[in-house]
Amino acid sequence: MQQLSNRINNLPVSQTLAMAAKARELKTQGKDIISLSLGEPDFNTPDFIKEAAKQAIDDNYNSYSPVDGYLDLREAICRKFKRDNNLTYSPNQIVVSTGAKQSIANVAMVLLNPGDEVLLPAPYWVSYSAIATLAEATYKEIPSGIETDFKITPEQLEAAITPKTKLIFFNSPNNPSGTVYTESEYRAFAEVLEKYPNIYILSDEIYEHINYGQPNFSFASIESMYDRTITVNGVAKAFAMTGWRIGYMGAPDWIAKACTKMQGQITSGANCIAQRATIAALNAPVSKIQFMVDEFHKRRDLVLDLLSEIEGISINTPKGAFYVFPDVSSYFGKTIDGVTINNAGDFSMFLLEKANVATVTGEAFGAPNCIRLSYAASTEELKEAFKRIKNVLN
Ligand code: GLU
Repeated sequence: MQQLSNRINNLPVSQTLAMAAKARELKTQGKDIISLSLGEPDFNTPDFIKEAAKQAIDDNYNSYSPVDGYLDLREAICRKFKRDNNLTYSPNQIVVSTGAKQSIANVAMVLLNPGDEVLLPAPYWVSYSAIATLAEATYKEIPSGIETDFKITPEQLEAAITPKTKLIFFNSPNNPSGTVYTESEYRAFAEVLEKYPNIYILSDEIYEHINYGQPNFSFASIESMYDRTITVNGVAKAFAMTGWRIGYMGAPDWIAKACTKMQGQITSGANCIAQRATIAALNAPVSKIQFMVDEFHKRRDLVLDLLSEIEGISINTPKGAFYVFPDVSSYFGKTIDGVTINNAGDFSMFLLEKANVATVTGEAFGAPNCIRLSYAASTEELKEAFKRIKNVLN
């Protein structure tokens, strides 16, 4: 008899990864699928980073690393936080992990008790809610829609807080909406949170460099929030290093210490070669990756143009990340080509089956009127994908 734990039985499958797997499977079967499901740069890792990894192999970096990461990497991360984010951390406040996903899981595991409440401004990345559930906490969505550029207000934040609230997730630039919060908007949230000293803030800044407008503002740079904020980042998105699996956090030292203890029992230090390569990535001037950001910017403009030709879709202008998150609710209840679309999940499946384009349903991100499309794909693929979508819908 197969008897899995309640923990795993209650855990939803990651919809981003599930859709990517489905697209891969259909491609293997010979279907001409264009996958706009996974948020993954289509560039190669820059050569100077690859060289550092090769050098690390030749230098015999093959042993276990310290659980929280090599000291010289943590020093490089401190310099990066100072340079890009105006944040002062010392190496004992830094923990390097196997992807920012593990950094987030570490924080949830060390801060949350059963019954604690996590606040998720929606839309939010699919794994936040799943990780909160794994930590036996409950989560509450704070909804927002396209009419406010997917931003919540300080009033909504305050109304959502209860005595059980322990942790809130901020993510700017946002996955899936591309929304970027300004400094003054963040300061208004901080004013609310100042009244509730028992709430911690996880600021996920993984898309900080993929930003087309004002520079990124780090929540922990607000003085009153520094001691309660965990800043999570990583090299996956900005340096085209998704598969290298390196994420990191800057945190109050007692939280960093607890995360190291947690990680020490589960995975130990992150991959040694990838850590050495990350030093090269973070020591390089940000200008080295600007060509990728410029390319994403062009593609965003292209995709907004292409979307504007499709009937019944409303869209905000994403200011960062590499996703568009159109509201497709005007299609709900309609039957097209024999298929009835009742929700975003149906819409996403319709596009997969009829247009051979893989997307992710907004339900997984706490926004049931929307679907997410990643434009981290080539211009040719994007043009073809939106042509197909337009053909099946118009
Ligand atoms: N973060 C990316 C995405 O949202 C990668 C997949 C994942 O880990 O969810 O598509």
